[in-house]
Amino acid sequence: MADKIKVALVGIGKIAVDQHVPSIAASSDWTLAATVSRSGTVDGVPAYTDIHTMLADRPEIKVVSLCLPPVPRFAYAAACLRAGRHVMLEKPPGATLAEVYALKALARDAGQTLFATWHSRMAKGVQAAKAALAGKTIESGHIDWKENVRQWHPYQDWVFEPGGLGVLDPGVNALSILTEILPTPIHLESATLHTPANRQTPVQADVKFLNGITASFDWLKEGSQIWEQRFSTTDGTTVELLEGGNRCIVDGDEQPLTELGEYPALYALMSLLVRSRTSDVDLSPMVHVSDIMTLAHRKTAPAFEWSS
Ligand code: NAP
Repeated sequence: MADKIKVALVGIGKIAVDQHVPSIAASSDWTLAATVSRSGTVDGVPAYTDIHTMLADRPEIKVVSLCLPPVPRFAYAAACLRAGRHVMLEKPPGATLAEVYALKALARDAGQTLFATWHSRMAKGVQAAKAALAGKTIESGHIDWKENVRQWHPYQDWVFEPGGLGVLDPGVNALSILTEILPTPIHLESATLHTPANRQTPVQADVKFLNGITASFDWLKEGSQIWEQRFSTTDGTTVELLEGGNRCIVDGDEQPLTELGEYPALYALMSLLVRSRTSDVDLSPMVHVSDIMTLAHRKTAPAFEWSS
């Protein structure tokens, strides 16, 4: 068996602890060789507080996985690529489209792998939905993506700052699935964003694409959380993707699921990309978010505080 690949994890916060650390620990391909975070650490793993120190001290670590929020991420990603490391980006891959194009060019010129991950695309029912829709014409579709920001991003003020995306942070997960499973590209017709009076980014969004597909994104949903997409095609096929894409029903029948969970599947793909020195950077979900920000009507919503 090939040697395990050493990875450094940067930004030891919620998603690093919830998903990246356990997925790396459970993988036979990967070993967590260092962390870089101003305050976060992982038991038993050498911890750095500065990316440049880690890159200089640990030349044997060839891969860096960046779990920071999008705005600070570019400087870290560029430093890693310039230092000859392969880079894995949490979603969304950057604060702007142009900065991700710049990273893509850096990776290409350096012959390094850049992987802009979309964890929701790896949900277990997504490929079944894609297969069911292949070659068909969508008649209508609707996405309900309704979750509680206080549960998933507790006290993370960056989500309400410019570049934090607000409800489009989970919304881009839905769009990453949509852009993966649809047989033809779509584009935006209209959108409405509801932004709290005291914040920079929206808590609710209503979105309409030209191709008969609509979406309702809500970040104030209490109780049961809803991550669902439903489609019908002109030949009468119905496709339901439920539980964030982890359950797929076609014409009323449950479909077989892929084996790996979302983050284990991301690391499995990253190991293939690194070993073949190829990149995977699909910006289409982020293009839709950018278009929503460009075209949307704005409405002011009640002020948002973390303790309701
Ligand atoms: P987080 O916990 O708020 O941030 C992750 C870590 O990044 C923090 O612990 C912090 O570590 C570091 N950081 C924050 N701001 C920084 C800055 N300005 N400069 C340098 N380091 C900074 O966020 P998260 O929830 O893990 O989300 C991180 C990314 O994962 C986001 O892009 C998000 O969309 C994505 N994601 C989140 C979830 C979720 O459920 N929360 C799910 C899937 C994907 P130090 O203070 O120790 O440096």
